[in-house]
Amino acid sequence: MYDIIIIGAGPAGVSAAIYGVSRGKSTLMIEKEKVGGLIGRVSTVTHYSALVEPETGESFAARLKSQAERAGAKIVYETVTGVSLSGDVKMVTTDRNTYQGKTVILANGTVSRKLGIPGETELWGRGIGMNAARDGQKYAGKQVYVVGGADGAIKEALYLAGLAEKVTVIHFEDQLGTIAEFKNRVEASENIQVRLHTRLTAVSGDGQVERLELTDVKTGKTEVVEDPGCGIFVYAGSTPATELYGELELKDGYIPVNERQETALPGVYAAGDICVKQVRQVATAVADGAIAAIHAAAAC
Ligand SMILES: Cc1cc2nc3c(=O)[nH]c(=O)nc-3n(C[C@H](O)[C@H](O)[C@H](O)COP(=O)(O)OP(=O)(O)OC[C@H]3O[C@@H](n4cnc5c(N)ncnc54)[C@H](O)[C@@H]3O)c2cc1C
Repeated sequence: MYDIIIIGAGPAGVSAAIYGVSRGKSTLMIEKEKVGGLIGRVSTVTHYSALVEPETGESFAARLKSQAERAGAKIVYETVTGVSLSGDVKMVTTDRNTYQGKTVILANGTVSRKLGIPGETELWGRGIGMNAARDGQKYAGKQVYVVGGADGAIKEALYLAGLAEKVTVIHFEDQLGTIAEFKNRVEASENIQVRLHTRLTAVSGDGQVERLELTDVKTGKTEVVEDPGCGIFVYAGSTPATELYGELELKDGYIPVNERQETALPGVYAAGDICVKQVRQVATAVADGAIAAIHAAAAC
Protein backbone atom coordinates (compact mmCIF):
# COMPACT_ATOMS: atom_id res chain seq x y z
CA MET A 1 0.00 0.00 0.00
CA TYR A 2 1.31 3.48 -0.94
CA ASP A 3 0.94 6.51 1.30
CA ILE A 4 0.16 8.73 -1.70
CA ILE A 5 -0.94 7.76 -5.20
CA ILE A 6 -0.87 10.56 -7.78
CA ILE A 7 -2.80 10.23 -11.03
CA GLY A 8 -1.13 12.26 -13.79
CA ALA A 9 2.45 13.51 -14.16
CA GLY A 10 1.91 17.04 -15.44
CA PRO A 11 3.24 20.02 -13.45
CA ALA A 12 0.65 19.44 -10.68
CA GLY A 13 1.44 15.72 -10.33
CA VAL A 14 5.22 16.19 -10.39
CA SER A 15 5.06 18.94 -7.79
CA ALA A 16 2.88 16.70 -5.60
CA ALA A 17 5.33 13.81 -6.01
CA ILE A 18 8.34 15.93 -5.01
CA TYR A 19 6.59 17.20 -1.89
CA GLY A 20 5.15 13.78 -1.02
CA VAL A 21 8.57 12.08 -1.09
CA SER A 22 10.12 14.97 0.87
CA ARG A 23 7.74 14.13 3.73
CA GLY A 24 9.09 10.57 3.85
CA LYS A 25 5.97 9.12 2.22
CA SER A 26 5.90 6.25 -0.26
CA THR A 27 4.67 8.01 -3.39
CA LEU A 28 3.51 6.47 -6.65
CA MET A 29 2.81 8.63 -9.73
CA ILE A 30 0.85 7.05 -12.59
CA GLU A 31 1.18 8.60 -16.06
CA LYS A 32 -0.41 7.34 -19.27
CA GLU A 33 1.87 9.20 -21.70
CA LYS A 34 4.89 11.32 -20.78
CA VAL A 35 5.98 13.14 -17.67
CA GLY A 36 5.32 16.85 -18.27
CA GLY A 37 1.70 16.66 -19.37
CA LEU A 38 0.19 19.36 -21.53
CA ILE A 39 3.04 21.83 -21.10
CA GLY A 40 5.50 19.21 -22.43
CA ARG A 41 3.71 19.36 -25.79
CA VAL A 42 3.77 23.14 -26.35
CA SER A 43 6.32 25.06 -28.42
CA THR A 44 7.47 27.50 -25.76
CA VAL A 45 6.85 27.87 -22.05
CA THR A 46 6.31 31.43 -20.87
CA HIS A 47 5.74 33.36 -17.63
CA TYR A 48 6.59 30.64 -15.10
CA SER A 49 9.31 31.85 -12.72
CA ALA A 50 12.94 30.85 -13.27
CA LEU A 51 12.46 29.46 -16.76
CA VAL A 52 15.64 28.73 -18.67
CA GLU A 53 15.02 30.87 -21.79
CA PRO A 54 14.29 29.96 -24.53
CA GLU A 55 12.26 27.27 -22.76
CA THR A 56 10.52 24.70 -24.90
CA GLY A 57 7.81 22.37 -23.63
CA GLU A 58 10.21 19.50 -24.20
CA SER A 59 13.06 21.00 -22.16
CA PHE A 60 10.70 21.99 -19.34
CA ALA A 61 9.17 18.49 -19.23
CA ALA A 62 12.63 16.90 -19.20
CA ARG A 63 13.55 18.88 -16.08
CA LEU A 64 10.23 18.02 -14.41
CA LYS A 65 10.97 14.35 -15.08
CA SER A 66 14.54 14.39 -13.83
CA GLN A 67 13.57 16.29 -10.67
CA ALA A 68 10.79 13.79 -9.87
CA GLU A 69 13.16 10.86 -10.48
CA ARG A 70 15.99 12.40 -8.45
CA ALA A 71 13.55 13.04 -5.60
CA GLY A 72 12.80 9.32 -5.55
CA ALA A 73 9.20 9.26 -6.71
CA LYS A 74 8.12 5.98 -8.24
CA ILE A 75 6.69 6.60 -11.72
CA VAL A 76 4.77 3.99 -13.70
CA TYR A 77 3.59 4.47 -17.28
CA GLU A 78 0.07 3.06 -17.19
CA THR A 79 -3.41 4.37 -17.92
CA VAL A 80 -5.77 4.66 -14.97
CA THR A 81 -9.02 3.00 -15.99
CA GLY A 82 -10.96 2.95 -12.70
CA VAL A 83 -10.87 4.19 -9.14
CA SER A 84 -12.62 3.47 -5.87
CA LEU A 85 -12.14 6.50 -3.67
CA SER A 86 -14.82 6.34 -0.97
CA GLY A 87 -13.29 3.79 1.44
CA ASP A 88 -10.32 4.16 3.82
CA VAL A 89 -8.17 2.26 1.31
CA LYS A 90 -8.20 3.93 -2.09
CA MET A 91 -8.08 1.58 -5.08
CA VAL A 92 -6.60 2.72 -8.38
CA THR A 93 -6.86 0.34 -11.33
CA THR A 94 -4.78 0.76 -14.46
CA ASP A 95 -4.58 -1.12 -17.75
CA ARG A 96 -1.98 -3.38 -16.04
CA ASN A 97 -2.30 -3.29 -12.25
CA THR A 98 -4.37 -2.37 -9.24
CA TYR A 99 -2.77 -0.15 -6.60
CA GLN A 100 -3.85 0.66 -3.06
CA GLY A 101 -3.23 3.98 -1.38
CA LYS A 102 -3.94 5.69 1.91
CA THR A 103 -4.47 8.94 -0.01
CA VAL A 104 -4.89 9.85 -3.67
CA ILE A 105 -4.14 13.07 -5.55
CA LEU A 106 -6.11 13.52 -8.77
CA ALA A 107 -3.88 15.53 -11.13
CA ASN A 108 -4.85 14.28 -14.56
CA GLY A 109 -5.67 17.62 -16.11
CA THR A 110 -7.77 18.23 -19.18
CA VAL A 111 -8.34 16.92 -22.69
CA SER A 112 -8.11 19.21 -25.74
CA ARG A 113 -11.46 19.92 -27.30
CA LYS A 114 -12.05 19.06 -30.93
CA LEU A 115 -14.14 21.25 -33.23
CA GLY A 116 -16.69 18.59 -34.19
CA ILE A 117 -16.84 19.83 -37.79
CA PRO A 118 -17.26 17.83 -41.01
CA GLY A 119 -13.97 16.37 -42.23
CA GLU A 120 -12.14 16.79 -38.91
CA THR A 121 -12.18 13.13 -37.85
CA GLU A 122 -11.30 11.76 -41.30
CA LEU A 123 -8.41 14.20 -41.81
CA TRP A 124 -7.12 14.37 -38.20
CA GLY A 125 -3.32 14.33 -38.30
CA ARG A 126 -3.34 14.96 -42.05
CA GLY A 127 -3.40 18.72 -42.16
CA ILE A 128 -5.71 19.32 -39.19
CA GLY A 129 -5.06 18.65 -35.49
CA MET A 130 -1.38 19.41 -35.84
CA ASN A 131 0.86 20.19 -32.86
CA ALA A 132 3.08 23.27 -33.21
CA ALA A 133 6.03 21.87 -31.25
CA ARG A 134 5.99 18.52 -33.05
CA ASP A 135 4.81 19.47 -36.55
CA GLY A 136 5.76 23.14 -36.90
CA GLN A 137 8.93 22.46 -38.93
CA LYS A 138 6.91 20.51 -41.53
CA TYR A 139 5.05 23.73 -42.31
CA ALA A 140 8.13 25.92 -42.82
CA GLY A 141 7.37 28.27 -45.71
CA LYS A 142 3.75 27.09 -45.93
CA GLN A 143 0.31 28.36 -45.02
CA VAL A 144 -0.81 27.73 -41.46
CA TYR A 145 -4.13 28.29 -39.70
CA VAL A 146 -4.49 28.48 -35.91
CA VAL A 147 -7.99 28.01 -34.51
CA GLY A 148 -8.46 29.77 -31.17
CA GLY A 149 -7.84 33.18 -29.63
CA ALA A 150 -6.75 32.50 -26.05
CA ASP A 151 -3.18 32.70 -24.73
CA GLY A 152 -2.19 29.13 -25.66
CA ALA A 153 -3.44 29.50 -29.23
CA ILE A 154 -1.77 32.87 -29.78
CA LYS A 155 1.51 31.72 -28.28
CA GLU A 156 1.59 28.80 -30.70
CA ALA A 157 0.62 31.16 -33.58
CA LEU A 158 3.58 33.42 -32.72
CA TYR A 159 5.91 30.43 -32.73
CA LEU A 160 4.52 29.18 -36.06
CA ALA A 161 4.90 32.65 -37.58
CA GLY A 162 8.66 32.17 -37.25
CA LEU A 163 8.43 29.15 -39.55
CA ALA A 164 5.43 29.48 -41.85
CA GLU A 165 4.98 31.84 -44.78
CA LYS A 166 1.74 33.08 -43.28
CA VAL A 167 -0.33 32.30 -40.19
CA THR A 168 -4.07 32.99 -40.16
CA VAL A 169 -5.64 33.03 -36.70
CA ILE A 170 -9.33 32.09 -36.79
CA HIS A 171 -11.29 33.23 -33.75
CA PHE A 172 -15.06 33.34 -33.29
CA GLU A 173 -15.18 36.37 -30.99
CA ASP A 174 -14.77 40.07 -31.82
CA GLN A 175 -11.39 40.30 -30.10
CA LEU A 176 -8.55 37.97 -29.26
CA GLY A 177 -8.86 36.74 -25.68
CA THR A 178 -5.16 37.03 -24.97
CA ILE A 179 -2.79 39.06 -22.84
CA ALA A 180 -1.39 42.44 -23.95
CA GLU A 181 2.10 41.00 -24.48
CA PHE A 182 0.85 38.52 -27.09
CA LYS A 183 -1.56 41.02 -28.72
CA ASN A 184 1.30 43.47 -29.23
CA ARG A 185 3.49 40.78 -30.74
CA VAL A 186 0.69 39.74 -33.12
CA GLU A 187 0.23 43.36 -34.20
CA ALA A 188 3.95 43.74 -34.79
CA SER A 189 4.15 40.52 -36.79
CA GLU A 190 4.26 40.83 -40.57
CA ASN A 191 2.89 37.39 -41.36
CA ILE A 192 0.01 36.88 -38.90
CA GLN A 193 -3.47 37.70 -40.11
CA VAL A 194 -6.33 37.61 -37.60
CA ARG A 195 -9.84 36.72 -38.76
CA LEU A 196 -12.24 37.63 -35.99
CA HIS A 197 -15.92 36.57 -35.60
CA THR A 198 -15.10 33.65 -37.86
CA ARG A 199 -15.36 29.91 -37.34
CA LEU A 200 -13.74 27.06 -39.20
CA THR A 201 -16.88 25.07 -40.08
CA ALA A 202 -15.59 22.27 -42.36
CA VAL A 203 -12.43 20.85 -43.88
CA SER A 204 -12.16 18.56 -46.89
CA GLY A 205 -9.60 17.00 -49.19
CA ASP A 206 -8.44 13.73 -50.67
CA GLY A 207 -6.47 12.14 -47.79
CA GLN A 208 -5.11 15.56 -46.77
CA VAL A 209 -6.68 18.93 -46.00
CA GLU A 210 -7.09 20.79 -49.30
CA ARG A 211 -9.84 23.28 -48.47
CA LEU A 212 -11.35 25.04 -45.48
CA GLU A 213 -14.82 26.42 -45.03
CA LEU A 214 -14.87 29.61 -42.96
CA THR A 215 -18.11 31.10 -41.63
CA ASP A 216 -18.59 34.67 -40.48
CA VAL A 217 -20.62 34.27 -37.27
CA LYS A 218 -22.19 37.74 -37.67
CA THR A 219 -23.38 37.51 -41.27
CA GLY A 220 -23.58 33.71 -41.58
CA LYS A 221 -21.69 34.05 -44.88
CA THR A 222 -19.41 31.12 -45.72
CA GLU A 223 -16.24 31.22 -47.75
CA VAL A 224 -14.35 28.22 -49.13
CA VAL A 225 -10.57 28.64 -49.10
CA GLU A 226 -8.56 26.33 -51.40
CA ASP A 227 -5.23 25.72 -49.66
CA PRO A 228 -3.71 22.30 -50.40
CA GLY A 229 -0.80 21.40 -48.11
CA CYS A 230 -1.77 23.87 -45.39
CA GLY A 231 -1.63 23.01 -41.67
CA ILE A 232 -4.46 23.67 -39.23
CA PHE A 233 -3.52 23.84 -35.55
CA VAL A 234 -6.52 23.60 -33.22
CA TYR A 235 -6.35 25.24 -29.76
CA ALA A 236 -10.05 25.52 -29.06
CA GLY A 237 -10.14 24.95 -25.33
CA SER A 238 -10.29 21.81 -23.23
CA THR A 239 -12.54 19.69 -21.04
CA PRO A 240 -11.63 18.24 -17.63
CA ALA A 241 -10.53 14.58 -17.57
CA THR A 242 -12.95 13.65 -14.80
CA GLU A 243 -14.90 10.79 -16.40
CA LEU A 244 -13.39 8.34 -13.85
CA TYR A 245 -14.59 10.29 -10.85
CA GLY A 246 -18.29 9.47 -10.57
CA GLU A 247 -17.97 9.29 -6.78
CA LEU A 248 -17.32 13.04 -6.68
CA GLU A 249 -19.82 15.78 -7.25
CA LEU A 250 -18.38 17.90 -10.05
CA LYS A 251 -18.97 21.51 -11.02
CA ASP A 252 -19.14 22.03 -14.79
CA GLY A 253 -17.08 18.83 -14.98
CA TYR A 254 -14.27 20.15 -12.74
CA ILE A 255 -13.44 18.96 -9.20
CA PRO A 256 -14.31 21.35 -6.35
CA VAL A 257 -11.56 21.57 -3.69
CA ASN A 258 -10.97 23.59 -0.54
CA GLU A 259 -7.82 25.58 0.30
CA ARG A 260 -6.04 22.34 1.25
CA GLN A 261 -6.87 20.89 -2.17
CA GLU A 262 -9.17 18.38 -0.45
CA THR A 263 -12.14 17.08 -2.37
CA ALA A 264 -15.40 16.15 -0.62
CA LEU A 265 -14.04 12.61 -0.04
CA PRO A 266 -11.63 12.10 2.92
CA GLY A 267 -8.09 11.29 1.77
CA VAL A 268 -8.80 12.39 -1.81
CA TYR A 269 -7.13 15.56 -3.10
CA ALA A 270 -7.09 17.20 -6.52
CA ALA A 271 -4.52 19.51 -8.09
CA GLY A 272 -3.99 21.51 -11.28
CA ASP A 273 -6.21 22.16 -14.27
CA ILE A 274 -8.70 19.45 -13.24
CA CYS A 275 -9.89 21.58 -10.28
CA VAL A 276 -12.52 24.27 -10.17
CA LYS A 277 -10.34 27.41 -10.36
CA GLN A 278 -9.92 30.78 -12.06
CA VAL A 279 -6.36 30.52 -13.41
CA ARG A 280 -4.99 27.49 -15.24
CA GLN A 281 -1.24 27.93 -15.59
CA VAL A 282 1.87 25.97 -14.65
CA ALA A 283 2.36 28.25 -11.64
CA THR A 284 -1.07 27.45 -10.21
CA ALA A 285 -0.82 23.73 -11.05
CA VAL A 286 2.52 23.45 -9.24
CA ALA A 287 1.15 25.35 -6.24
CA ASP A 288 -1.90 23.05 -6.07
CA GLY A 289 0.33 19.96 -6.23
CA ALA A 290 2.50 21.19 -3.36
CA ILE A 291 -0.51 22.05 -1.18
CA ALA A 292 -2.24 18.73 -1.93
CA ALA A 293 0.83 16.62 -1.14
CA ILE A 294 1.70 18.48 2.06
CA HIS A 295 -1.81 17.86 3.40
CA ALA A 296 -2.01 14.30 2.06
CA ALA A 297 1.31 13.51 3.77
CA ALA A 298 0.06 14.94 7.04
CA ALA A 299 -3.05 12.74 6.80
CA CYS A 300 -1.26 9.40 6.42
C1 LIG B 1 -1.28 25.63 -26.03
C2 LIG B 1 -1.06 25.85 -24.55
C3 LIG B 1 0.08 26.54 -24.12
C4 LIG B 1 0.29 26.77 -22.77
N1 LIG B 1 1.39 27.47 -22.38
C5 LIG B 1 1.59 27.76 -21.08
C6 LIG B 1 2.73 28.52 -20.67
O1 LIG B 1 3.56 28.93 -21.48
N2 LIG B 1 2.90 28.78 -19.34
C7 LIG B 1 2.00 28.34 -18.38
O2 LIG B 1 2.20 28.60 -17.21
N3 LIG B 1 0.93 27.59 -18.75
C8 LIG B 1 0.69 27.30 -20.06
N4 LIG B 1 -0.38 26.53 -20.43
C9 LIG B 1 -1.24 25.94 -19.38
C10 LIG B 1 -0.54 24.71 -18.76
O3 LIG B 1 -0.09 23.85 -19.78
C11 LIG B 1 -1.47 23.97 -17.80
O4 LIG B 1 -2.02 24.87 -16.87
C12 LIG B 1 -0.72 22.86 -17.05
O5 LIG B 1 -0.13 21.95 -17.96
C13 LIG B 1 -1.67 22.10 -16.11
O6 LIG B 1 -0.96 21.08 -15.48
P1 LIG B 1 -1.69 19.81 -14.83
O7 LIG B 1 -0.61 19.01 -14.19
O8 LIG B 1 -2.84 20.23 -14.02
O9 LIG B 1 -2.34 18.99 -16.05
P2 LIG B 1 -1.70 18.39 -17.38
O10 LIG B 1 -0.51 19.14 -17.81
O11 LIG B 1 -2.84 18.28 -18.34
O12 LIG B 1 -1.21 16.93 -16.97
C14 LIG B 1 -2.11 15.88 -16.72
C15 LIG B 1 -1.40 14.56 -16.94
O13 LIG B 1 -2.28 13.49 -16.58
C16 LIG B 1 -2.12 12.42 -17.51
N5 LIG B 1 -3.35 11.61 -17.51
C17 LIG B 1 -4.58 11.97 -17.94
N6 LIG B 1 -5.46 10.96 -17.78
C18 LIG B 1 -4.75 9.92 -17.25
C19 LIG B 1 -5.10 8.60 -16.90
N7 LIG B 1 -6.35 8.12 -17.02
N8 LIG B 1 -4.13 7.79 -16.40
C20 LIG B 1 -2.85 8.26 -16.26
N9 LIG B 1 -2.47 9.52 -16.59
C21 LIG B 1 -3.40 10.34 -17.07
C22 LIG B 1 -1.88 13.14 -18.83
O14 LIG B 1 -1.24 12.28 -19.78
C23 LIG B 1 -0.99 14.30 -18.40
O15 LIG B 1 0.38 13.98 -18.45
C24 LIG B 1 -0.64 26.29 -21.79
C25 LIG B 1 -1.78 25.60 -22.21
C26 LIG B 1 -2.00 25.39 -23.58
C27 LIG B 1 -3.24 24.67 -24.03
